[in-house]
Amino acid sequence: MEYHDSEKANEVAGRVEDFLEEVVLPREREALATGERITMDEIEGFWEEAKERDLFAPQVPEEYGGQGLDFSDMLPSFEQVGRSLIGALAIRANAPQEGNMHTLEMVGTEEQKEEYLRPLVQGEISSAFAMTEPKQGGGSDPKMLQSTAVKDGDEWVINAHKWWTSDGLDADFYLTMVRTDLDAHPYSGTSIILVPADADGVDVVRNIPHVGGHGITEREGGHAEVKFDDVRVPVENTIGEENDGFQIAQMRLGGGRLTHCMRYSGMAERSLDVAKAYLSEREAFGTTLEEKQALRHRIADAETRLHAARCMVRHAARELDRSDARIEVAMAKMFTANVTQDTIDLALQCCGGNGIGKDLPIAHFYENVRAFRIVDGADEVHRRSIARWAFEDVDETEIENALQFDEGLRIDALDE
Ligand SMILES: Cc1cc2nc3c(=O)[nH]c(=O)nc-3n(C[C@H](O)[C@H](O)[C@H](O)COP(=O)(O)OP(=O)(O)OC[C@H]3O[C@@H](n4cnc5c(N)ncnc54)[C@H](O)[C@@H]3O)c2cc1C
Repeated sequence: MEYHDSEKANEVAGRVEDFLEEVVLPREREALATGERITMDEIEGFWEEAKERDLFAPQVPEEYGGQGLDFSDMLPSFEQVGRSLIGALAIRANAPQEGNMHTLEMVGTEEQKEEYLRPLVQGEISSAFAMTEPKQGGGSDPKMLQSTAVKDGDEWVINAHKWWTSDGLDADFYLTMVRTDLDAHPYSGTSIILVPADADGVDVVRNIPHVGGHGITEREGGHAEVKFDDVRVPVENTIGEENDGFQIAQMRLGGGRLTHCMRYSGMAERSLDVAKAYLSEREAFGTTLEEKQALRHRIADAETRLHAARCMVRHAARELDRSDARIEVAMAKMFTANVTQDTIDLALQCCGGNGIGKDLPIAHFYENVRAFRIVDGADEVHRRSIARWAFEDVDETEIENALQFDEGLRIDALDE
């Protein structure tokens, strides 16, 4: 399918594809076949190779060691890396690191960029974004945030309980969302504060057992429950302006939602490719499975919906390069999450027992994709935003003209 992405975007994506075919996918296939996990040394080897090929961290400005691509231009490369279980990791474009780099780059001070962004891009340190809280804390409704930071001289004193903090097990620092003005509405009284993992009072309680995971690498990452008990950090660790936490989180999540869409589209496309290859070879009831109309129609529907999702993501990326594109991103995220889940599920079904088996990548994709309809805003939360937008500026004259309530004409007409 030709999407007419820019020349630059296609050129980089072509090189990403070569990198995947020559370096990453052979190692992935070997790991799937042998069950031998890919080591951190090997991942660092991928990073070196990606740097030599000018593919490393496409989303990061060149001055911080990346390729400096905007959302539209990184898109085809991110779709490519999504095709592999370790593709995004291999070029350092994996969530949540990529979104945290974006946040620091957008609003970090020069000191924060030197101390944290530069080594984060290089993979010398790791990060996590801690917003979601247990019990009646922030989740789908982030206004319910309960964690706090109180100023004491030139320090913040942070008390927070967070969970589902991705990569939180081995993070070197947490971008932590906390209420900093309890008298204000949370939207104007919340800040993001950088908390080093080795600060006194930081307690990584556990990795929350979950569906999916990194699967074929030795990386821990995990989705952690983390407590912050009277943790003191300098006031300079505030990310962006004090009390602007929601605005910054919105900027982070807008981009993060869309880059997730790009990677998951790649997963869905590869799953379909594997399934089509299986169907074209495997025979049952006198023909190859490819010839069964029941399957052909479902593949046709999946191709159509995946194409629609990719078009939506491209449109949202173009808008996000110009504005906050909240509704375009909400629509693209909600639609893509459902389409990619359905596509991967169909691909798994088409491969029969081998779809469930982990010789193929589909079962790994299947485990990973389910969370996408929940993370970065559940389907219902996006529908809520889209519906609110849909009901803005309703033109009431349209219905008044059609039904003419005042004159009772419609009722008379029905009586006849
Ligand atoms: C794999 C994974 C990784 C994650 N990574 C991070 C991370 O790095 N950092 C972080 O801060 N958080 C992270 N999260 C948390 C994630 O952002 C939250 O799970 C999500 O925002 C939903 O919040 P909740 O779990 O509290 O669900 P709840 O708020 O309890 O909602 C439960 C369900 O209710 C439904 N619902 C919610 N609102 C409405 C509504 N208005 N109308 C109808 N139905 C509704 C939805 O189906 C929703 O799934 C991660 C979660 C997962 C599963």
